Amino acid sequence: MYDLAIIGAGINGCSVAYEMSNAKKSVILFDMEGVASGGSGAAGAFISPKFSKSGELKELIHDAFLYSMDFYDTHFSHLLTKTPLLHIAKDEEDGKILKHYKEHTSIQLKTPSDTLLDKLTPLAKKQESISMDAGVVDAQAMCRAMCAGTKFVKEKIQSLVYDDGMWIINDAYAAKEVVLATGAYEQLIKEPYMQLRGVWGHRIDVRTTTDNPSSIHQFVSISPSKDGVLAIGATHNVHYHPQTAAQAYDIDEGRAELLEKAGRTLDLQNIEVLRDYTGLRSGSFDYMPLLGPLVLSKETLACGNIRFKVKNPDYDAYTYYPNLYMINGNGGYGFVLAPYLAKILREYIVSGQKINERLSPARFFARWAKKL
Ligand SMILES: Cc1cc2nc3c(=O)[nH]c(=O)nc-3n(C[C@H](O)[C@H](O)[C@H](O)COP(=O)(O)OP(=O)(O)OC[C@H]3O[C@@H](n4cnc5c(N)ncnc54)[C@H](O)[C@@H]3O)c2cc1C
Repeated sequence: MYDLAIIGAGINGCSVAYEMSNAKKSVILFDMEGVASGGSGAAGAFISPKFSKSGELKELIHDAFLYSMDFYDTHFSHLLTKTPLLHIAKDEEDGKILKHYKEHTSIQLKTPSDTLLDKLTPLAKKQESISMDAGVVDAQAMCRAMCAGTKFVKEKIQSLVYDDGMWIINDAYAAKEVVLATGAYEQLIKEPYMQLRGVWGHRIDVRTTTDNPSSIHQFVSISPSKDGVLAIGATHNVHYHPQTAAQAYDIDEGRAELLEKAGRTLDLQNIEVLRDYTGLRSGSFDYMPLLGPLVLSKETLACGNIRFKVKNPDYDAYTYYPNLYMINGNGGYGFVLAPYLAKILREYIVSGQKINERLSPARFFARWAKKL
């Protein structure tokens, strides 16, 4: 029997595997396709903060950005490219937000070099911009490195049954605790309050004679060039879903969109598209990630002494699946958030430290139950 089983080997599952293996737990990690085969394998994996005026998501990503840059640099520096980031506003409105961000952030800002600014299109040069130290990680290699010390099994998990104090997985494996890190794929535990949406994304690697020394974000993100190759990503397509679409995804259309958007920022010369990466990002309906135990809705509703139509619900009064947790809903910031969230989850599982209620999946149960 394992101390912990993790289902899903994207950056979330692999980050939890890393934390829990280091906490001396015996861990087994499952993925139906392989490590980094979902959204994580497609990611450009830019590590950057969220440039908005205010809000809890901005604050969370700020903390996660500082934590994760340090985490990757300390433990996996060979897979992290530390690079200056130039973030350019899309339009005047966006420029006002960026100006506000610059005036209030505690992050040390940089002045972009003239060589970099000279490469920008006249339209991009006109907009407000911000520059700071940030990074890009090698997405697939990072996932593989983080779970290198963990037993990995390539298998689709179809059944999870709690019996006699342990979870029985596919009738073949047993674990005391289970973490669901299944991204935007069909959820193993079906609860009516739990809804996640998958946003399809496409990114490309291109060879170009234009040298780019920095990460540049505007309509899309452009990575620094390495040996004449740079990454451009990613599209946000809310209409296409690989499991429900009637037609195959149009790769050429995606490439054209990426190149057109990149071209509004940087004049890229002699482009040859080398590789395409596509995948789903999983997002929650309030954009905050989901971290922690899952509410058993039927059992909780049957509990006669809980009032659901209240402003401040008492999450401690709910009934939860025993020893079962989820980590999901990172949206477009999976590589920024995962190491930070995995640390919080490890502190919860190992030491019982409370998880901030704004991350708790119970918030969706509370909203759902209030409407019943
Ligand atoms: C094109 C693109 C570009 C992106 N760029 C960035 C970026 O620059 N920076 C950034 O921080 N984030 C970026 N993201 C977002 C980031 O990739 C996601 O937030 C992250 O991958 C989510 O990781 P995850 O582990 O939750 O999900 P996933 O990586 O999707 O992993 C879930 C895994 O679970 C497995 N699985 C599901 N169900 C089962 C089952 N029943 N049994 C076994 N296995 C199962 C799947 O096979 C999959 O491998 C990007 C995403 C995309 C698509």
